Amino acid sequence: MNVSGSNEIWFLTGSQGLYGDDVLRQVAGQSLQIAEALGQADEIPPRIVPKPVLTDAGAIRRLALEANAYDSCVGVIAWMHTFSPAKMWITGLDLLRKPLLHLHTQANVELPWSDIDMDFMNLNQAAHGDREFGYAQTRIGVRRKTVAGHVSDPAVARRIGEWSHAAVGHAALRAMRVARFGDNMRNVAVTEGDKVEAELRFGVSVNTYGVNDLVDVVEDVTDADIDALTSEYEGCYSVAAELRRGGERHESLRYGARIELGLRNFLTEGGFSAFTTNFEDLGGLRQLPGLAVQRLMADGYGFGAEGDWKSSVLVRALKATAEGLPGGTSFMEDYTYHLVPGEEKILGAHMLEVCPTIADQQPTLEIHALSIGAREDPVRLVFDAAPGAAVVLGMADLGDRFRLVANEIEVVPPDEPLPRLPVARAVWRPAPDLRTSTEAWLTAGGPHHTVLSTALTTEHLWDLAEMVGTELVLIDEHTDARRFTQELRWNQTYYRLAQGF
Ligand code: MN
Repeated sequence: MNVSGSNEIWFLTGSQGLYGDDVLRQVAGQSLQIAEALGQADEIPPRIVPKPVLTDAGAIRRLALEANAYDSCVGVIAWMHTFSPAKMWITGLDLLRKPLLHLHTQANVELPWSDIDMDFMNLNQAAHGDREFGYAQTRIGVRRKTVAGHVSDPAVARRIGEWSHAAVGHAALRAMRVARFGDNMRNVAVTEGDKVEAELRFGVSVNTYGVNDLVDVVEDVTDADIDALTSEYEGCYSVAAELRRGGERHESLRYGARIELGLRNFLTEGGFSAFTTNFEDLGGLRQLPGLAVQRLMADGYGFGAEGDWKSSVLVRALKATAEGLPGGTSFMEDYTYHLVPGEEKILGAHMLEVCPTIADQQPTLEIHALSIGAREDPVRLVFDAAPGAAVVLGMADLGDRFRLVANEIEVVPPDEPLPRLPVARAVWRPAPDLRTSTEAWLTAGGPHHTVLSTALTTEHLWDLAEMVGTELVLIDEHTDARRFTQELRWNQTYYRLAQGF
């Protein structure tokens, strides 16, 4: 499910005809240098495609329309090298539907103090050219990220890189089809939501399929394919003896492989990049899909349990955002707490479905009883999550809009081994502390299902939220519970007013 192969970011440079051909030739040359520097930055995976210097409204408008129409263009960077009177940008900016980054930079690092003359001043005036551009964007109300600094500054490449990752996630959202096998878990509130609004806001198409449509595909899987996949399992994981070929429960592993192959076929055939299951509605499936879901997530698919399509959308979007970065991204659920003063931690897991991309070691492939849902014992991967800085992100539908809630966290090793816990899990310390984090999360109405990512930072999340025009409230080291409550109220006002009448 690789998404970044052909992605491009278009690099636009603004100027005007008044300067004459000589100056414009120099502008074009320096524009290429900046584009090249960005193109060489490892932090920015999409290809940087420089476009000819823009000096009139017609060319700007045409370029915006081309960017909109070109699927591989995931975002646009604009820099006003010289003064580019911004009325000529209005129509183009108003039409542009791709994520926009305003790069406020200049060709030189140092001022040539002893040589500086009016020719230099004339050529290097982004300091006011970009202010003109900023004004026009703000006047129109264009959502964008603004990054200031010389391209040789590592912070500039890092921040453009984070935005470019988010732009890839945004493109994945716009093309996303989600298959729900069954509906929502009965009576659960937070996993519900407005799928019409989601299609408008994020571009995701979310539709339900009868689980027995999936069962038909699962039943069609061939024994030869199951043989090959169970052999693959033995190469990838430490497989419990009872599940191995010749083991007394090998048949259960074969059925787990059958589910994986069937699910994969169903998703591939339908062009789906995310899905949900519901343990209350398994139709003719003999096991709750555990191993299959874990492995599909590891391949980049979005997943949400209990019909939770919003979390499935987020898992897929963040996996696309994180592509190429070290670390992993998984569906997660806040489960239970360690409340010893000074050592507070959250233990997160799910019934089965945690993605092995966050694993600390080679997972073990095991089979255990599941106390919920009257089915055969399901096979699953078991592991601890790798320690490190991470984020969790959840989405709630507030009735009039979606709200994203994020927390900066530190994944830590369990205090002691967990030999009797037969599921994959993560243990973490939330910022700023467990009390403030959970009080803020609950006050925001954040969900119990989340995405945990050790690959992403809150800047990635912020950039993505801005691209889809969706509220993101962030709980981090600076969070103060009272201030946070006020922020929620202010946001409530803003987002309601911003919807218009
Ligand atoms: Mn759950």
